[in-house]
Amino acid sequence: MCGIVGIISHKPVAGEIYDSLVHLQHRGQDAAGIMTYNKRMHKQKGLGYVRDIFNEDNMSLLTGNIGIGHTRYPTHGGFSHGEIQPFWTEIPYGVGLAHNGNLVNYQELAMEIQEKEKRYLNTQSDTEVLLHLFTNSLGKQRPPASPDEFFEHICEAAQAVFKRASGSFSVVAMIVGKGLVAFRDPHGIRPLVKGVRQNRDGTTDYIFSSETTMFYALNYEKARDVQPGEVIFVSDTGKAYSRILKDAEFTPCIFEYVYFSRPDTIMNDVSVYRARLRMGQNLALQWQKQHPGVLPDIVIPSPATANTAALSLAHELGVRYSEGLYKNPFIARTFIMPGQRERQKSVRYKLVPQELEIRGKKVMIVDDSIVRGNTSREIVKMVRDFGAREVYFVSACPPVRFPCFYGVDMPTKSELIAANKTLEEIRQFMNVDILLYQEIDGLVEAVTRKGQHHIDRPCLACLDGWYVTGDVDQEKMETIETQRINDRNGR
Ligand code: SF4
Repeated sequence: MCGIVGIISHKPVAGEIYDSLVHLQHRGQDAAGIMTYNKRMHKQKGLGYVRDIFNEDNMSLLTGNIGIGHTRYPTHGGFSHGEIQPFWTEIPYGVGLAHNGNLVNYQELAMEIQEKEKRYLNTQSDTEVLLHLFTNSLGKQRPPASPDEFFEHICEAAQAVFKRASGSFSVVAMIVGKGLVAFRDPHGIRPLVKGVRQNRDGTTDYIFSSETTMFYALNYEKARDVQPGEVIFVSDTGKAYSRILKDAEFTPCIFEYVYFSRPDTIMNDVSVYRARLRMGQNLALQWQKQHPGVLPDIVIPSPATANTAALSLAHELGVRYSEGLYKNPFIARTFIMPGQRERQKSVRYKLVPQELEIRGKKVMIVDDSIVRGNTSREIVKMVRDFGAREVYFVSACPPVRFPCFYGVDMPTKSELIAANKTLEEIRQFMNVDILLYQEIDGLVEAVTRKGQHHIDRPCLACLDGWYVTGDVDQEKMETIETQRINDRNGR
């Protein structure tokens, strides 16, 4: 999972890219990088939080009015400094590129590039493969006579990516002396949004980003989402071009709404906050149907992603909403921390139960999802330790039974609790009196009920096992999972 941003402006962009990465920090906390251009490429990258990587000294070197940035949590490749984006190549023109997503056919493409095309790949990152596919096509074309002609070349290059790459990819790229490019895979699995800022002198600045979270702070207005299969080019002279190159079923990731995106984001023309409120409403209806007459004394979210769904669930049930678990805001989210030991250690470290809210009560805990089950079990134990009389556990997301191969760092199938246990076994494992999962239809309804969106159906592959790219069979699953385990183990 990653956050990407690209800006082409009439003033230096480094500060705005830094601010954007701070507003995309929730999408990746492993590493970050910024690349700008001003007579030459300038880049700074590092491991850790954005605030820890960049400082006045290294930011002052990032000059130029065009740039791209990236926050990273690895779903492909290792955890080393060399895998940090943006990536760049000097042929042709000089191209820097940042990517959010995951290529399902990375292994095949990497082999083809190295063995048939006799090119060297310096990392195990699928971003390097994407960069190669894009620039390889761009480099084969004759020098363009005008920006209009260059846009045709960009379309050819993006088309070359669409033809060969399978999976999810939202991309921002800057091309030296030419401008800024953004494109999104034909299924629009990962988000990408375009913003504009009108300057007083009549000029326009452009931003492309995973989310709208920085638009208000930087004075950009949302223009629209980059469409699935669309490529957009903003030339150095400020002219904007766009074209939809490939039309396919629009299946954006539903987990963006469940967990990843910030609640103030409008994604694919659906408010993440409102979608979460509707998730809570639908959960309340389901609870009343399946457990008529059973009511908790309080509803407590597992903070903070579940707060919104818990709020509307409590409201619909007519039960008091309580912040009975205090979250230390300075600890990273557990789901995206690599390594089981760190994760288990961090639950108690970051959450503190409030005894006055819990003791002697029937407590309903609401979480956004249950992935491995260990965090949920720890939370239940903490609430029981602080004197809860009964504990009900409600998940805003249906059982996660399949790994994600489209850019979310889900565990392997063997680590997913719902892939390996029945609901009753999970209830016992978590030691709760009642366990309720949202139904798939309820979740889809919550995301798609409102908004002027064009979603055909959200991607639900981690819930129902239907992978929209059509190339994930058992053998492919095993190959990618082995690769993922090797990446984790540094092999
Ligand atoms: Fe999102 Fe799940 Fe699809 Fe991955 S498999 S893109 S997490 S909905």
